[in-house]
Amino acid sequence: MHGLVRTSATLGKPGKSTLLEVEAPRAIDGRAPDVFRSGAWVPMRTYSDSEEVDFAIVGTGAGGGTLACKLAEAGFSVVAFDAGPFWRPLEDFASDERWQGGLYWTDKRITGGADPVELGSNNSGRGVGGSTVHYTMIALRWRPEWFECKSKLGYGRDWPISFDELEPYYEEAEEALQIAGPIDYPWGRRRKRYPRRSHPVNAPGLVLARGCERIGIKWSPVPLATLSSPRGMAHPCVYRGFCAYGCSTNAKQSVLVTFIPRAINAGAEIRDLAMVGKIEMGKDGRATGVHYHRNGNWHFQKAKNVVVAGYAIETPRLLLNSKCDQFPDGLANENGLVGTHIMIHSGPGVWGTFDEQIRQYKAPPCMAVTEHWNYDDSDKKDFHGAYAFMSQGPLAVGWAQCVAINRGLWGMKLREEMTRYNHVAGLRIVGETEPQHDNRITVEDEKDQYGLPIPRMTFSYSDNDKRLMKHSIGSMKSVLEAAGGKELWVDDDTSHLMGGCRMGDDPSDSVVDKDGQSWSIPNLWVCDGSLFPTAGGVNPSLTIQALACRMGDRIAEMAPRGEL
Ligand SMILES: Cc1cc2nc3c(=O)[nH]c(=O)nc-3n(C[C@H](O)[C@H](O)[C@H](O)COP(=O)(O)OP(=O)(O)OC[C@H]3O[C@@H](n4cnc5c(N)ncnc54)[C@H](O)[C@@H]3O)c2cc1C
Ligand code: SF4
Repeated sequence: MHGLVRTSATLGKPGKSTLLEVEAPRAIDGRAPDVFRSGAWVPMRTYSDSEEVDFAIVGTGAGGGTLACKLAEAGFSVVAFDAGPFWRPLEDFASDERWQGGLYWTDKRITGGADPVELGSNNSGRGVGGSTVHYTMIALRWRPEWFECKSKLGYGRDWPISFDELEPYYEEAEEALQIAGPIDYPWGRRRKRYPRRSHPVNAPGLVLARGCERIGIKWSPVPLATLSSPRGMAHPCVYRGFCAYGCSTNAKQSVLVTFIPRAINAGAEIRDLAMVGKIEMGKDGRATGVHYHRNGNWHFQKAKNVVVAGYAIETPRLLLNSKCDQFPDGLANENGLVGTHIMIHSGPGVWGTFDEQIRQYKAPPCMAVTEHWNYDDSDKKDFHGAYAFMSQGPLAVGWAQCVAINRGLWGMKLREEMTRYNHVAGLRIVGETEPQHDNRITVEDEKDQYGLPIPRMTFSYSDNDKRLMKHSIGSMKSVLEAAGGKELWVDDDTSHLMGGCRMGDDPSDSVVDKDGQSWSIPNLWVCDGSLFPTAGGVNPSLTIQALACRMGDRIAEMAPRGEL
């Protein structure tokens, strides 16, 4: 077994990986930061620990933040906890990669298996809004057939939910985020127009476009969750390219500036810098609330329902760490599936040098996409599954890191390579990996700063995963070469953790049902990327948010029937 310990984000030095820090809770005493006005506050309903709220939600990212809004707007009392701070983007965020390192979840995690996954900036965030605060805003729907990929495409596993059921919720999420997209997106089911016009495609995007056209495959501008025209107090995108380090203009439609203000307005309390360590169980086999650490002490919030939405590592970790006499293997884990079938998106990239200036740092990093191989079912492929690839836009620090790590360049050689930075363009895939039982999250004996067992992530690619990556490198090379790229080289990366609490129709073969409700503990729910039974070939957050919107509606339907 390989084992690697990663303690800090990719950026920064060990011990103190960032300059961006908030030490005390801000959402407290009946008010929360107003993310749209510097130094201002909005009133926020607050609950005492002894008030039994309808829902305690752990995590306020793509899943938890969206659900908090939906449930509060449906009239439920909600407290949503986040281990990280409540950022004020207009004041806290700087155009400085190292400063922004505080956005990432950098607590100690052990990563192992044959292909240990780098953990840090490229997968999970910590703070109100979750990873959407530093995500790159690609907002793509799943291919409809992927929900029935076993029955229709002969691989993977069917989801318990169909595209038809989710389609109205994709629309709801796209409306909430005011996605800017093209009039005719060339793949997937015919759809109504995106809420806002597409952004102009930047130079690396035009490289992808030129290459795709020359080899005869389709491409498209990427539908993005950043504004192409003003929205309330938020300005449109100014194409400064810092998206993966937090957007200081509020053009990015993260959960922090969309669903969270709506949730607070509807009466939800957001409890920042509040790390949930354990879900408490009653003698009747129902959850009774959560233990959380805030302001240096442990507290207990009573709740009628608990929703876990902490991302694909922290969600299984919390369920496993909540083991008790009644549930000695952890909560919702009678069949031993909690933490298993973790998937990533594989992400090899291909880079080339161009005669003309590209200046890849301008504008959001990924502005053009081809989903050609997501929709190609020909038997010419030697793998099953899917991948898309997008144009890339690393900033200078990230680019230097990429070159140094992947090509071993250092000193003068690295300096020389950096002088070509403005002439480089690259492509990277979002590649499906198979759900494998032994790719999993477990907990260790070692404890973190809260005294909680730390997680271990074990991951190995399957042979099919490797064939898919090899194929994708070939197709990215053809596109870059056709576009005029020279001196091509390949790097390796990963993104987007999913799975670990998969949903299904069969209690013996899944952790929760299609509504995210645990099979064994009726008032325990999961609402984040850990629900995914398969990984698909596009970025996950729009699907997570569509599932959360649907879950909110389902809960509102079930409650009056006494089904919670
Ligand atoms: C650099 C980067 C770029 C990305 N780009 C895209 C993209 O372009 N498009 C796309 O679709 N997806 C993208 N993603 C992925 C996307 O951001 C995630 O898949 C999505 O946010 C996951 O949603 P989630 O609800 O599972 O978790 P998150 O959004 O990560 O939210 C989890 C939250 O829970 C909190 N939390 C965890 N455990 C606890 C606990 N015990 N107590 C209290 N709080 C807790 C965390 O602090 C965090 O804020 C990107 C991700 C990264 C890192
Ligand atoms: S490019 Fe647009 S979305 Fe990205 S950080 Fe700048 S303003 Fe925000």
